[in-house]
Amino acid sequence: MAAILVVEDNPANLKLARVVLEKAGYAVLEAMDAEAGLALAREKRPDLILMDIQLPGMDGLTATSELKRDPATAAIPVIALTAHAMKGDEEKIRQAGCDGYLAKPFRYPELLERVAAMLAPSSRPSPIEGEGEKLAPLSPRGRGAGGEGE
Ligand code: MN
Repeated sequence: MAAILVVEDNPANLKLARVVLEKAGYAVLEAMDAEAGLALAREKRPDLILMDIQLPGMDGLTATSELKRDPATAAIPVIALTAHAMKGDEEKIRQAGCDGYLAKPFRYPELLERVAAMLAPSSRPSPIEGEGEKLAPLSPRGRGAGGEGE
């Protein structure tokens, strides 16, 4: 079972992410600030990290940079969670070393799709720079009728 670390300071968002991920069969580790997240990442070596950008104290991008500088945690994929993904943010997210990002509020099917894709060894997405438009923030509004198969 893959373990996913969720670093999110909003208790409601954290709980929802945990419920959705646990229902999908993942083990979930939780941290409510970057410092606790870094400690958990180093101790538990999760398979994936969902990292809120706006956190009290150290922000999520600084935390991601630290993870990517540390050989012990550099290989763990990080998906940034951002409430306002603008062009400037995308550049910062890329520079911090994040492997992708999701705009909040995210739709849970998209969260699960992104998580599954990131965990699949054969289809792990390349870093943001190679992905172009495919890494544009996922629409929180859905993909329209007909696009929503199983
Ligand atoms: Mn936050």
